[in-house]
Amino acid sequence: MSTCRVCDGDVVEFLDLGRQPLSDHFRSGPGLPGEFFYRLAVGVCGDCTMVQLMKEVPREKMFHEDYPYYSSGSSVMQKHFEDTARRFLKTELTGPDPFIVEIGSNDGVLLRTIHEAGVRHLGFEPSGKVADVARASGLRVHGDFFEEVSAIEVHESEGSADVVYGANTICHIPYLKSVFRGVDALLAPDGVFVFEDPYLGDILEKRSFDQIYDEHFFFFTARSVQAMAARFGFELIDAERLPVHGGEVRYTIARAGARRPSEALVRLIAEEDARGLSDLCRLHRFVADIHGIRDDLVGLLRRLKDEGKTVVAYGATAKSATVTNFCGIGPDLVAWVCDTTPAKQGRLTPGMHIPVRSPDAFATEAADYALLFAWNHAEEIMAKEQEFRRAGGQWILYVPEVHIAGA
Ligand SMILES: [Zn+2]
Repeated sequence: MSTCRVCDGDVVEFLDLGRQPLSDHFRSGPGLPGEFFYRLAVGVCGDCTMVQLMKEVPREKMFHEDYPYYSSGSSVMQKHFEDTARRFLKTELTGPDPFIVEIGSNDGVLLRTIHEAGVRHLGFEPSGKVADVARASGLRVHGDFFEEVSAIEVHESEGSADVVYGANTICHIPYLKSVFRGVDALLAPDGVFVFEDPYLGDILEKRSFDQIYDEHFFFFTARSVQAMAARFGFELIDAERLPVHGGEVRYTIARAGARRPSEALVRLIAEEDARGLSDLCRLHRFVADIHGIRDDLVGLLRRLKDEGKTVVAYGATAKSATVTNFCGIGPDLVAWVCDTTPAKQGRLTPGMHIPVRSPDAFATEAADYALLFAWNHAEEIMAKEQEFRRAGGQWILYVPEVHIAGA
C-alpha cells in the first residue's frame, strides 16, 4: 500500500512490472557500474480512483541535461502541436496582451507557432539540452521545474497567464499538489489549464502496458482528473480524445464555476463509468492480458531464433524499456534496435543492453523481422520504411496482441 499523491487515500497495488532501469538511460558499455534499478509497480487509489505508480523515481534522475527525447522528432507530432497552438491563438489568446505558459516545453515545438504570432510566452523546461534547442530559436524558456514557488515568481514578474499548457508532462509529475497551487497562483480568473496525457481507457483497451515507465507517474481518466481538479478549487470542463501517442485525452480545467462543462465531457465520464475503468476487477484483467502478451512475444522471438531468422527492433523508445525488461528480451533475441536520436546511437538500451544503431543500418542490413517498439508512430514509420517490406521484411507488433503486421 502507498499514499495517493492527489488525495492522501490508500493506493492498492494491482500490477508489478518487476525490476526496471531508468527508461532513458542509454549506456556506453555493458560493464559500467552504477546502473539504477527500481521496482515498477502500479496501484489505484480507493478514494479518488487515480491510477499511479507505487513509488516515484527522483525527478533529477529523469529530466536532466542529457534528456534524449525531442518532441519535434515526429512530423505527425509537429503538426499536432502546430494545430494546438493555432487553436489557442484563435480561442484563448485573444485579449490585448495574452500570455501562455507551457509546462515541459521540450524543444519548443508548440511555442514556436505562438512566438511567430507575436504572443507572449514562457516555457518551463528543466531538461537542459532540449531547452537549449528552444532557446536557440528565440523562445523564452525557464530552466526550473514548474511548481508553486517558480509559478509565483513568474506571476510576480509577468502577470497572469491566459493558458497554462502541458503535453505529456503533467502525468510525469508526482507532486501535483504543488503544480495545482502554482497554476492557482498564475492563472487568470477566466484562464484555462490544459493538459494532454496517455489515457487509461486506451491503455486498458490496447493493452499498451509499455505506457507504464518511470516518467509516467499518473494514468488519468476524466473521472480521476475531475476529482483532482475539484480538490484544488478547479473544475474539469472538457475532455477530448486524441489519436496521438497511442491514445491520449486533452483535459481542459477552469476555475470552479467559471465555465460550463462540455457535452463531450459528460459523455466520456458516462462511458468510463460503464466500462468500470478503475475497478480492480477490470485492472486485474489488464494484468492477465499483459502476461499473455509477454508469453506470446517471447515465444515468437524464440521460435524465430530457432528458425535462424534475423530479428531487429525499431525505435529505442522509453516505452521499450518496460517491454524488454519485463519480458527479458536482450540481444540474444533482438540483435539491435535502430533509432533516429543521435544521442542514443552507439549505446546500449537500458537494462537489457541491446545495441542501438542509426536508421542507416536498418536500410542497409536486411533483417527478416523488425519488432516495432515505436508502434504509436506505426503509420508514419511503415510509410517511410516501405523498402523493408518490399525486401521481404515483416513487422512484429505486440499491442493489443502479438501479431505480424498485415499477416
Ligand atoms: Zn486518491
